[in-house]
Amino acid sequence: MNLRALLAGIVGDRYLLTDPEAMAGYGRDEYPRVFSSPRAVVLPAGTEEVAAVMAVCHEHRVPVTPRGRGTGLTGGAVPLHDSVVVSLERMERVLEIDEENQMVVVEPGLIVKSLHDAVEACGLYYPPDPASLESCSIGGNVAENSGGPRALKYGVTRHYVSALEVVLPGGRLCRYGGKYLKNTMGYDLPHVFIGSEGTLGIFTTITLRLIPLPPARQDLLIPFPSLERASRAVTAILNGLRVLPAVLEFMDAASIRVAEKATGKEFPHAGAGGHLLVQFDGSSPDEVEALAVKVGELCIELGAADVLVATSTAMRDRLWQARRAVLEACKTTSAATEFHDLSVGKANIPRLVSAMHGLGERHGLEVACFGHAGDGNVHVGFMSQDAGKFESVLARLNAEVVEATLDLGGAISGEHGTGCVKREFVGRALGQAELALMQSIKQAIDPAGLMNPGKLI
Ligand SMILES: Cc1cc2nc3c(=O)[nH]c(=O)nc-3n(C[C@H](O)[C@H](O)[C@H](O)COP(=O)(O)OP(=O)(O)OC[C@H]3O[C@@H](n4cnc5c(N)ncnc54)[C@H](O)[C@@H]3O)c2cc1C
Repeated sequence: MNLRALLAGIVGDRYLLTDPEAMAGYGRDEYPRVFSSPRAVVLPAGTEEVAAVMAVCHEHRVPVTPRGRGTGLTGGAVPLHDSVVVSLERMERVLEIDEENQMVVVEPGLIVKSLHDAVEACGLYYPPDPASLESCSIGGNVAENSGGPRALKYGVTRHYVSALEVVLPGGRLCRYGGKYLKNTMGYDLPHVFIGSEGTLGIFTTITLRLIPLPPARQDLLIPFPSLERASRAVTAILNGLRVLPAVLEFMDAASIRVAEKATGKEFPHAGAGGHLLVQFDGSSPDEVEALAVKVGELCIELGAADVLVATSTAMRDRLWQARRAVLEACKTTSAATEFHDLSVGKANIPRLVSAMHGLGERHGLEVACFGHAGDGNVHVGFMSQDAGKFESVLARLNAEVVEATLDLGGAISGEHGTGCVKREFVGRALGQAELALMQSIKQAIDPAGLMNPGKLI
């Protein structure tokens, strides 16, 4: 029997796509410059079907690309080398909320916002909150080790994965970890798979640790005349006051400009050089209000133009919509864009931002910087209305961004992964010894090199 017939025998004709038009959406993710048509797309309904698909593909020496919801920004889910796409979108159930042990067991295709809603209805909290949470899957988050604004206080996806069920190349099913918080026995295998970007296996069940949902929350928007002043305030909040907000985000003037243009909504103090978006959470409204007042007073002392308190859910939602809109807005308001997701020590944010603006000037590009001021993760959007010119400088620009970040002792992928887009820089960023060790892990788990080829390593 040929491959198509075997795959159809596993998932059924309805869930095997081979028509180029039906498959077109599976040939890309949210990185705009990479497309590759899949050999076929399968949409399995459960672990057994995933395992059977993996066994058949292995037997036929056909590469496989796992796919969550295709919101990745580094081409991770793009099926290079004529891969079969295994889309986990039908596996989207919450299997169990274990309130006693504060754990949730889910299928990988579950949308992250649905996960939040399900556990919050039980008074529990899953903190990781990528800006794409309304459209990305938890499987994709585990594969990318995704982060979000709350990483400052609560950490990233990695810190919540308690167990993984993984289908390995060839179809073998393995379970790593369990419904417990501590285990010192053996190498920490779940953590080898977290952030592996589909290059080692396919997650089919994910167990996540939960914490109690903080009952109170307060959000502040604080405009500063310059990004340097905003940055000084970040240091003063964290080191001077020694308080830890749940969220400490920044947006520069260009970010606000593009968000306003894309959403058609005015932002308060839009002309400011830098905005901080601060969120406190805690056990009572009094507790978070006291923290907010302290931080507000400090920021005014440090030159803030105002301290705006989100007094209603609607106002809070508006602030967050604007923050979450920036990335998409950079794309929709320009003819060509390239994003970088850089991570530096937070004291180096002004230096990094100034280096990025310098590169923008040199290449005649607009630059928007925004992101997670509290943990030093800066998103940089380079934009141009002249797509042809942009493409001609892109390779040089990317190499210069990498060098400028490494010069500051930083990392070139804070949370968006490596995929095929940043793969060429892995050796430069991590060094040959680390790369060689990663290659030997890959070789041990996927000796035939069939899992998501062309990505990460
Ligand atoms: C507007 C926007 C905002 C974003 N904001 C953030 C942000 O704040 N923080 C952040 O970290 N990211 C952010 N992202 C990036 C993206 O949403 C994340 O990388 C997300 O985790 C991808 O999830 P997905 O389900 O779309 O995965 P996909 O794009 O489908 O896949 C991503 C990678 O995971 C692998 N994969 C997917 N599912 C599985 C599985 N079950 N088993 C094994 N491998 C699998 C794929 O092979 C691929 O390598 C943003 C993206 C957009 C478009």
